[in-house]
Amino acid sequence: MQLTGKTALITGSTSGIGLGIAQVLAEAGADILLNGFGDPAPALEQIAACGVRVAHHPADLAQPAQIAELFAWAGEHGGVDILLNNAGIQHVAPVEQFPPQAWDSILAINLSAVFHCTRLALPGMRERGWGRIINIASVHGLVGSLGKAAYVAAKHGVIGLSKVVGLETATSNVTCNALCPGFVLTPLVQRQIDQRITEGVDSQQAQQQLLAEKQPSGAFVTPRQLGELALFLCSEAGAQVRGAAWNVDGGWLAQ
Ligand code: NAD
Repeated sequence: MQLTGKTALITGSTSGIGLGIAQVLAEAGADILLNGFGDPAPALEQIAACGVRVAHHPADLAQPAQIAELFAWAGEHGGVDILLNNAGIQHVAPVEQFPPQAWDSILAINLSAVFHCTRLALPGMRERGWGRIINIASVHGLVGSLGKAAYVAAKHGVIGLSKVVGLETATSNVTCNALCPGFVLTPLVQRQIDQRITEGVDSQQAQQQLLAEKQPSGAFVTPRQLGELALFLCSEAGAQVRGAAWNVDGGWLAQ
């Protein structure tokens, strides 16, 4: 198994993309450290079925002190060889009506937490002579969309941070890259679909409208597809991919 003996910490992995990536890395033999606010029991059971070690820590990534606790705990579970900075939240509103509290939370969870997790993971990776940092950014790290001021600002920041960390680790066996998904059908996107449901528009039509506006394939990207790309970045074939922002978006950015 390609990742036997490695431990992957995946933030925000009780649902959605994080859980999908955890599944693929566990199938490749990695031990998994989960984090997130959802009920951890089903995720723990799902990953344990792959025959790897798995544990969950409920740190709130908006709180740097809790991120420090998460890494101290991870140290007791074998350290972090692979860091997936995945936790993220969304709020959609025009900038004049954007609640300052929502701005602060999105910047804290979607951007500052990536910095804190990275600075805490790097020393152990350098010491062990190998590491992978994979940041789940978004197409919104490369282009804007109406109503997503904080999310777009944070995700552009994640791509900038990934480039700098990619440079600072360039002569080592540690790499850092960003993945930029288009729409993936997770609870985060389901909330945006639900906001579009009206008397004349049912859930299925709302889903199709959302995709038709941005994603030429008309199909959602899947968590497994992102997991397989993360697995590639963990392989020797991916060792010279550094500081990249890799879009997986059904053609969104080709337009
Ligand atoms: P999701 O809501 O299913 O998962 C988000 C995860 O983050 C959950 O486990 C949640 O509990 C956790 N989380 C939220 N706030 C947290 C906090 N303060 N501390 C710790 N954990 C917290 O959403 P998702 O769609 O799977 O999103 C995962 C990542 O992918 C996010 O960074 C998101 O921006 C990004 N992304 C999603 C899409 C999409 O279409 N779904 C597209 C591009 C990028």
